[in-house]
Amino acid sequence: MRPPYSELVAGWKALRARDDLTVREVACVGATRTLVVAEIAPPAGGSVVSLAAGMHGDEPAAPWALLSIVRDGLLDRRFGYRIWACVNPTGYERDTRENAEGDDINRSFDRGGRTPESRAIVTANRDRTFALSLDLHEDFEADGFYAYEPVVAGGSIFARALVATMDAEAFPVQDFTDDFDLAYPAEAQDLRTLERGCVFPNPDAERAFFAGTPYGLYMLRRSARRVGTLETPRKRAWNDRIAMHRAGVVTILDRLAGAQ
Ligand SMILES: [Zn+2]
Repeated sequence: MRPPYSELVAGWKALRARDDLTVREVACVGATRTLVVAEIAPPAGGSVVSLAAGMHGDEPAAPWALLSIVRDGLLDRRFGYRIWACVNPTGYERDTRENAEGDDINRSFDRGGRTPESRAIVTANRDRTFALSLDLHEDFEADGFYAYEPVVAGGSIFARALVATMDAEAFPVQDFTDDFDLAYPAEAQDLRTLERGCVFPNPDAERAFFAGTPYGLYMLRRSARRVGTLETPRKRAWNDRIAMHRAGVVTILDRLAGAQ
């Protein structure tokens, strides 16, 4: 199950018939591709949440889950939204983690963006502030769902609630053992705390250990008060992965609304 990218774009453009959101394409300077971005205005006095999927092209359920969340009206309307439908279109088309130039976009958010895709996002986000930024991914090694929630102001607000949701819906939750690869360097293992289904990075300490800036760290530094990354197990059925992302985003938005 892996519909072509053109179908994903068509799905988003079909939403232009609705009057509560806009869907446009943002040019990537230095490349011929565009990124699809949808926006929903916040209610009076409301804050805005940034959502993204498809940063890694070989994690295809995430962008389809994001489309289904918007199409089916699952977004909490106490917030407005900026939605990056698929951050890595050329990677999606090629079924590769990296973009067409062979770069991992999720390591390119420093210095104003070092890939065409990250540059487009950084430019669009200039002077914008988001209450939360979520990024939907998939994991090849995982057997169950898990999420990253960097510790902000000494605490987390949604990661454990996500685990409770997945348990209630009988979806698998990832247990972390010593050999599970979170792509942290060996000397950086103490920079995050692990619980079942939850990774709590220490964002200040983490920065020094990545060669290029990941999206979540960039958002936390520049544009968002809190960030989260959702990971579904790529080895599970397509519909289960879609359902996990849907339940996860709904849970997080509800927790955010309660925390404000
Ligand atoms: Zn990923």
